[in-house]
Amino acid sequence: MSASRYPDLDRTALAAALEDARAGYAALAESGLALDLTRGKPAPAQLDLAGPLLTAVTADDYRSPGGVDVRNYGGLEGLPELRAVFGELLGIPAEQLLAQGNSSLVLMHAALGFSVLHGTADDGSSGWIRQPQAPKMLCPVPGYDRHYTVAESLGFELIPVPLTDEGPDMAVVRQLVAADSSIKAMWAVPMYSNPTGITYSEPVVRELVSMTTAAPDFKILWDNAYALHHLGPDEPAPLDVLGLAEASGNPDRVHVFASTSKITHAGAGVAFYASSPANIRWYLHHAGQMSIGPDKINQLRHLRFFQDAEGVRAHMRRHAEIIAPKFQAVLRTLDQGLGGLGIARWTRPAGGYFISLDVLPGTADRVIKLAAEAGIALTPAGAAFPHGLDPRDENIRIAPTLPEPQDVQKAVDGLVVCVRLAALEKLLA
Ligand code: PLP
Repeated sequence: MSASRYPDLDRTALAAALEDARAGYAALAESGLALDLTRGKPAPAQLDLAGPLLTAVTADDYRSPGGVDVRNYGGLEGLPELRAVFGELLGIPAEQLLAQGNSSLVLMHAALGFSVLHGTADDGSSGWIRQPQAPKMLCPVPGYDRHYTVAESLGFELIPVPLTDEGPDMAVVRQLVAADSSIKAMWAVPMYSNPTGITYSEPVVRELVSMTTAAPDFKILWDNAYALHHLGPDEPAPLDVLGLAEASGNPDRVHVFASTSKITHAGAGVAFYASSPANIRWYLHHAGQMSIGPDKINQLRHLRFFQDAEGVRAHMRRHAEIIAPKFQAVLRTLDQGLGGLGIARWTRPAGGYFISLDVLPGTADRVIKLAAEAGIALTPAGAAFPHGLDPRDENIRIAPTLPEPQDVQKAVDGLVVCVRLAALEKLLA
């Protein structure tokens, strides 16, 4: 039987469908689930892949290939051999890529914080905080909630910008940055974005690095957290954003970030910062005032574990073997349970950690509450928007990596029941 679009049904048919949906939900609620699709964390099986890393440096084997005793202070730039491996993977010259501590989010906070307090490398004037207007930051939405909290905590006003399948809506971005010199920065998750999974197209990237901005010191925080996290056989290389920015005459516009948090051990990986030579000097100057150097023991563990760029690529394929079937289960279930009903659409990511589901406008919060009452925890409605406010109340972020495959299946089966019920309630209201 082919599905009928709910919005096309008359009230009698809708009422009958609602009756069925209520019965389905009652059965779901009675099944005593306790499932969690909230956070994009690696599954234990993924963490196991990096097990040998934990013993890759020992009490009597602690020198880097260059002879550095990694147990001691120093080397703020990070181990050169590890910078070379990740430079190759990210398409960035090793001298423009620093290996730092355990978290890229900390580096983003630092780069923004240095700009707020001290100003940028390319603008000798004082920090953004001392300028007449509070700094503003463009936030492609839906996006990553922690980006918003970092910027907000540093005093930025957050301006949402719609995210299309190609990247941020450039008509909106172009107009905003040209008109307002207090727009100082913008977030970007250029590959397999959190949560929609889209990758910025080359024309969008070219325009971002070349567009005219009213602020002379406008910066893009290029969070390439998922650059190496392909789910299938296509493994596109990251675009050379720093080279494109330089060729456009804006060499200092982009701060690039990445980390191994979802490659090795989450929260215990190595984070990377990359940028123009001038920004690298600027970053090292300020970072040198808060740290004597990063954890080189962990950096050497990573180097020994991976050996080279091909080692990282092979490792990422093993991750994909574990998580791709979970993504497929979610998509298959959404296709079968919601396809053709006219009440939802969802993304089909080729990489990253999330699937973004848009339900009937005005029902996302209701869906999440229904799911919670049935024992299925989902990321709160609005989490992918600044201040937690989804103006259309339609977006739900699905994070399928952490639970066991059978739990992913049960959770999405239940989610489908909740999406249908909330839609029918809304259409009959
Ligand atoms: N950036 C994005 C887009 C993320 O989704 C995440 C984690 O979910 C992070 C950064 C966190 O990175 P890290 O662990 O290196 O701080």
